[in-house]
Amino acid sequence: MDRALAGDLARLPELLQSVRDVAVREVNGMSERPVASLGPAPAPGPLPGEGVGAEAALARFTERWSPGFSGSAGPRYLGFVTGGATPASVAGDWLTSAYDQNGCAAVGSWAAALERETVGWLRELFGLGEEFGGAFVTGAAMSNTVGLAVAREWLGERLGVDVARDGVAALGPVDVLSGSPHSTIGKALSVLGLGRGRLRRVPVLPDNREAVDVAALDAALTGLDGRPAIVVANAGTVNSVDFDDLRAVAALRERHDFWLHVDAAFGGFAALSPAYAHLVAGLDAADSVCVDLHKWLNVPYDAAVQFTRRRDLQLAVFRNAAAYLGPPAGEPDFLHLTPENSRRLRALPAWFSLMAYGRAGHREIVERNVALARLLGERIAGIPGLRLLAPVRLNVVCFTLADRPDEERVTAFDRAVAAGGETFLTPTVYDGVRGLRAAFSNWRTSEEDVERVAGALASAVADVPGG
Ligand SMILES: *Cc1c(COP(=O)(O)O)cnc(C)c1O
Repeated sequence: MDRALAGDLARLPELLQSVRDVAVREVNGMSERPVASLGPAPAPGPLPGEGVGAEAALARFTERWSPGFSGSAGPRYLGFVTGGATPASVAGDWLTSAYDQNGCAAVGSWAAALERETVGWLRELFGLGEEFGGAFVTGAAMSNTVGLAVAREWLGERLGVDVARDGVAALGPVDVLSGSPHSTIGKALSVLGLGRGRLRRVPVLPDNREAVDVAALDAALTGLDGRPAIVVANAGTVNSVDFDDLRAVAALRERHDFWLHVDAAFGGFAALSPAYAHLVAGLDAADSVCVDLHKWLNVPYDAAVQFTRRRDLQLAVFRNAAAYLGPPAGEPDFLHLTPENSRRLRALPAWFSLMAYGRAGHREIVERNVALARLLGERIAGIPGLRLLAPVRLNVVCFTLADRPDEERVTAFDRAVAAGGETFLTPTVYDGVRGLRAAFSNWRTSEEDVERVAGALASAVADVPGG
């Protein structure tokens, strides 16, 4: 055995203790580290010929790289939709690596059964019926891709062609309709050979909404002359967290032939609170559902879940045939259901967090985040020089400069906010107007954090030239 490797094996407890110490320091200090690192990263160094051992590697890492890591897992990082990692999920994630199970199949390990238990818990959490099967994937982009791959296979079934065998060309042009689709839908359509250009935007409701106009969707479907299509409904848009009326969209299937995929990446978590569950009423009428877990469940990257009620079609798409695998019988192994073959046991961090905090603990995170988003909305409405772009519907605050929100001034404002180090937001364009979004989905964020963010925004807006 290599000398450095043998040394690490001999000193494993000390090594893991050192790593633990760094992790404790970093996690405990997360609230106070700058939320984003804006300086240039070090230039790439040479590949080590002789290794230094893990303790020395840890020292090099903490000296050279960790100072530039962001505080994105902390309470005032409000960019994109960014979750942190609950203590239990970190514990589960560590053990995922320690056990290093391959979740691809049930052969010789209970790991896949644990994933099944976790998927079952999540199905219940989001109010989906037993007819939904699911699997862990890396993120909502991949969850959307899997859902749309199953949709593609369904189109084949409707048109009497076998897409998995004959390829997507056998389908001819496909229509994909959506009101305010996330950018990853176009990416998924590109990956699947359906084509980004086949995504048609259906008008949204008037009065500052991002939810699809169901009458307009009805009309667009009528225009397809009976050709089966895919509808992507959105349960939580990224700018204003608006929700399509899922029940009304699903009801259109009485008159039109379409696959209903729901992108509920973070909006699905509305189901956890009786106060907001009505927003996702009808989710269980979907044919496939995407929910991200590294956002509002607050498990480490990378984790999401995909659900569908057509396991058979999913199997047709992803089935892997190899001599050593044997024919899929009974409950199909996960490698026959997802793009990956070998797979990390991504379910374990989620299993830990759900076991540790239960439905009640995760509901509390959701409700607190929504209350804090509303509080920031109120604060922003009271800051001279800022105005809200949309009502705070759930956990995102979308706002801009009160005067001349052009690209130059909004960018200057964004830079001033980021340079302050207190918070990090992401720019957007809402209804043609440039602005910023503050998205709340971290388990630790408190009222005090919101006051700090509001203070940082007030001082940054004062620094924007030409107001
Ligand atoms: C974040 C998000 C995605 C993409 O998720 P990743 O985890 O980044 O792959 C898709 N849809 C919606 C609505 C999202 O918020």
